[in-house]
Amino acid sequence: MIKSIDEVRIEGKKVLVRVDFNVPLDDERQVTDDTRIKESLPTIDKIIDYGSIPVLMSHLGRPKGEINLKYSLKPVADLMIDKYGYDVIFAVDCVGERALQAVNEAAVGQVVLLENLRFHKEEEKNDLEFAKQLAQLGDAYVNDAFGSAHRAHASTEAVAKLFDTRLAGYLMINEIEYLGKTVTNPVKPFVAVLGGAKISGKIDVIKYLMDKCSSILIGGGMAYTFFKAMGYNIGKSLLEEDRIQMAKELLDEAKTKNVKLILPSDTIIADSFSNDASFKTVKSDSIPDGWMGMDIGPDTQKLFNEEISKGRTIVWNGPMGVFEMDNFAKGTYSIARQLADVTGRGAITIVGGGDSAAAINKMNFQNKVTHVSTGGGASLEYLEGKILPGVAALEI
Ligand code: AMP
Repeated sequence: MIKSIDEVRIEGKKVLVRVDFNVPLDDERQVTDDTRIKESLPTIDKIIDYGSIPVLMSHLGRPKGEINLKYSLKPVADLMIDKYGYDVIFAVDCVGERALQAVNEAAVGQVVLLENLRFHKEEEKNDLEFAKQLAQLGDAYVNDAFGSAHRAHASTEAVAKLFDTRLAGYLMINEIEYLGKTVTNPVKPFVAVLGGAKISGKIDVIKYLMDKCSSILIGGGMAYTFFKAMGYNIGKSLLEEDRIQMAKELLDEAKTKNVKLILPSDTIIADSFSNDASFKTVKSDSIPDGWMGMDIGPDTQKLFNEEISKGRTIVWNGPMGVFEMDNFAKGTYSIARQLADVTGRGAITIVGGGDSAAAINKMNFQNKVTHVSTGGGASLEYLEGKILPGVAALEI
């Protein structure tokens, strides 16, 4: 059983909180997108409300176990102070004397932010001694870093087990609730919409969902490997030669299991990989040599939208085309629109993965779908039916 910070009152304590403040920084080391910070503020506020002191820890980027100030979390501390008005004590190390000193100095109402966990190589090694050092900084542990929960690291796994009081923050609870429960036990019909560049990254997802979904709609670059497997000419479209056999097997498996695996009936093709390329719509089995598939066509949009309308639970992961280029973004946006529409009519809609979430955000539909997952890799692993180590470690 996993308990949330609502279920256990953590009063008058120092609470070690794993957050995901792995935010993008520009050349001046200013935070360019603070979504991940904003999303953990309710958890931080709740701990402060309990009269406890949050001791926040996170990684940022890939400093590879060495101190590299390019990846310092100091800009995050500054942003929490300047933009959100928190009284933050920044500790220049996440363990040892300087961390302990910052924690001991902190008073109720203040927040401690520890320096980047990955300045120590022990973090990614899930090192127990390092976890013990971290554990000295709190009387209770909260994990709100869903985006890091698929990694068994010292701050997500080893340390959790050292606390009797180990809880999930609000962000984590939401993800477990929506991604975990909904996908494991969906209200049927359950429809999955999968896209993105490569089939290789989604094979396990397709396999897992095959046992759960009534239909799986496939768009994006990975559709072309399926087309190749079906004997179509795909021109210069994205192809994973070494996955053609796997694509064949998935098509067969879908037939055996009576799952509708639906591929685009038409495709927008371009003569080069550029927004300025010439482009046109063709049937998916008629892509000429020298052209490449860039987006699903209008017939496919209609077909996919009809299928989505039949679902009571819909999961979407991965764009339908090269949506970073305006001319090839329509398919992806049509899925976002349809998801918002069916949510309004009572369906449960879950959007996972960075690109699909970006498309939803760009259209300002965050509140028009049931749940937008914050974790790319972590949400994909949920869709593969895997148990995430950072979530499992919270079990009591
Ligand atoms: P992924 O990380 O596998 O979810 O892939 C996301 C990327 O897939 C995005 O950057 C899209 O531009 C890309 N993508 C989607 N459709 C295509 C396509 N037809 N050809 C090439 N890239 C694509």
